[in-house]
Amino acid sequence: MVDEHCESCGFKYMIEPSFFYGAMYVSYALTVAMAVVTFVVSYLLGLGLVGSILAIFVVLVALTPLIMRISRLLYINMFVHFKEKKA
Ligand SMILES: [Zn+2]
Repeated sequence: MVDEHCESCGFKYMIEPSFFYGAMYVSYALTVAMAVVTFVVSYLLGLGLVGSILAIFVVLVALTPLIMRISRLLYINMFVHFKEKKA
């Protein structure tokens, strides 16, 4: 039997089904920021325009799993806050 609520704070584990759709927007912002940083760094390293685009592609593909999880963490922390104990 799986608990539906946290024993300590009463948090409901199964949030509404489309809750994490909002994390897509956080993910988008992170991806754009990552692409800009990669472009600036690779362009300053002298990779040129095509090399910089390739560098962006490689970095974004490599970091996609990380960006997905970080954006979910950021998103849930906007709505769910840590509570020490149920009184
Ligand atoms: Zn809890």
